[in-house]
Amino acid sequence: MAVALVVAAGQGERLGSERPKALVSLGGRPMWEWSAVALRATPTIEEIIVALPPGVSALPGVRCVTGGAVRSDSVRNALAAAPEGADPILIHDAARPLVTPELIVAVLAGLAGVDAAIAAAPVTDTTKECDEEQLVLRTLDRSRLWAVQTPQVFRRAALERALSLPYEEVAKATDEAALVERHGGRVRVVAAPRENLKVTTPLDLLVAEQLLAARAAD
Ligand code: C5P
Repeated sequence: MAVALVVAAGQGERLGSERPKALVSLGGRPMWEWSAVALRATPTIEEIIVALPPGVSALPGVRCVTGGAVRSDSVRNALAAAPEGADPILIHDAARPLVTPELIVAVLAGLAGVDAAIAAAPVTDTTKECDEEQLVLRTLDRSRLWAVQTPQVFRRAALERALSLPYEEVAKATDEAALVERHGGRVRVVAAPRENLKVTTPLDLLVAEQLLAARAAD
């Protein structure tokens, strides 16, 4: 039984909004609802649990829990509400409202034989690693680089192992897959469109609006 956890309790300071990012209006509805709608339209997802700021009302077919201080706390709170037999567990950031049922299905299929499967797009920019003074240390081999997104799908045991690592290590991780990798788990990347962008800045919000409008006109 596949269960989806949507993390939607972040503040989103970089968006310059007074409200939590997931509640910012996008295409006529709060941003987080787009992810819930895509997951609800995916038949293999049997339950959706969303970690939200307190006091937000749910959508039909979606269970809400209150998020935590950092992303991994929100994941923990949502996972605690998942049924015991739920496996695999899909995690999705509400900040990626352009996710589609096709991508969700592809990432779920990518889990065969590994501990986690994660959506990612090939890096198109030449990418350099720099020191604190912005002096270049090295140019990375672009042909091997992937910009990681969500959804990310985990075998439940691997996710639980990752979340049981020392609290500080878990809190610092920007995704759960990094913890699985670091502790010897096998993680597969599933090619995803760059369109599944993360809304971080006002520019991203504008682009997301345009992409959703183009989809609606199709
Ligand atoms: O801050 P960032 O954009 O990396 O957050 C990624 C996702 O994690 C967002 O969907 C955000 O709502 C969620 N998050 C959360 N609880 C937090 C911090 C972030 O659910 N305390």
